[in-house]
Amino acid sequence: MPRSSTVAKEVLAYCTSCKMDLSHIVVAMKGDKIVKAQCKTCNKEHAYKAPKGAKEPAKKKSKASKAEQTSSSIEAEWEKLMTSHKDAPVKGYTMKGKFLLGDKLKHPSFGEGIVSRLIYPNKIEVVFREDVKIMIYGGQ
Ligand SMILES: [Zn+2]
Repeated sequence: MPRSSTVAKEVLAYCTSCKMDLSHIVVAMKGDKIVKAQCKTCNKEHAYKAPKGAKEPAKKKSKASKAEQTSSSIEAEWEKLMTSHKDAPVKGYTMKGKFLLGDKLKHPSFGEGIVSRLIYPNKIEVVFREDVKIMIYGGQ
């Protein structure tokens, strides 16, 4: 049975549930093509998808890939802002403080952040290393 030797084989495939390339067990073949695979991480069976890393040649890596890596792009944005405002003094965050666009502040839980947006009348959007937060402040 040459065909059954490929079913139950381990392959790298894209998991539609985990949203990444992971080891899968081949569940069903059609000819020499894998049609169904089971993810070893979430144990879900789904239609076989070629691993993203291998396939998808140099397409436009613009918005789609950015959205997939929200957390790392926040960090990249944070690093960019911290670098461009490296000479700005760091203000301690208090709810009564006054903040302007581009101000650097230090929050007891979130660490250092940069004011990226003023939201009228009394909120600021702050980019921290791991997250973007809306904070209340003293207002104009
Ligand atoms: Zn999975």
